[in-house]
Formats: sequence, structure tokens, C-alpha cells
Amino acid sequence: MEQALQCNIGGIKCDKDTCDYRDDSVKVEDYDKWLNKPCPKCSSNLLTEEDYSNVQMLLQTAQMINSMTPEQLEALAGNTDNDEIVQMSVEMNGTSKMKFNIEEQ
Ligand SMILES: [Zn+2]
Repeated sequence: MEQALQCNIGGIKCDKDTCDYRDDSVKVEDYDKWLNKPCPKCSSNLLTEEDYSNVQMLLQTAQMINSMTPEQLEALAGNTDNDEIVQMSVEMNGTSKMKFNIEEQ
């Protein structure tokens, strides 16, 4: 069975409005190396501890959802077909708020 929830988190970008620094090649597994690292362009914090813990929380949530049985998922999501994949993407805007976009495929 495919994973119910695909978690596509990756890349790092500077949150400063006036700065366009981003590196999409950064993997979520390597986020700990970016914790509190200054932006190479404007030296503002690229990944705060709050951002980092939000990401970890999200990964745990995805893991939990993926370990659920189809019945549990159905109860959670309503009328979801078992083979339906829900894609969730997350944007972090630098104020440690996350925006969840859930797209049904
Ligand atoms: Zn920057």
C-alpha cells in the first residue's frame, strides 16, 4: 500500500522579505545542520529552533497517519478512498506559522 500521506518537505529559504536566498537541494534530514545558521546573503537566521521543531512535529504527524489502518484513516478523513493519496505541502513564512495545503490527487 502506498503511503496515505506524502510529506514533501525540503529546501531552505531565507525569510527576509528583501532577500531571495534559497537552496532547494537541502534535504529535511539535514535540517539539523542548518539550525540557527545565518543566511549567506543577509545573515538573518535561516532556520530557527521553532521552525525546526515544527518540521519535526509535522514529520511525526505524517508518520503517525501513515501507520494508521485504512479504517482509522477513514474515520479521520471522512469519505476517503483507501487508495487515495493526499498530498500536503507546508510553507513556513518566518513567523513560525505553517500553512497546510492539502491537495487530493
Ligand atoms: Zn537572507
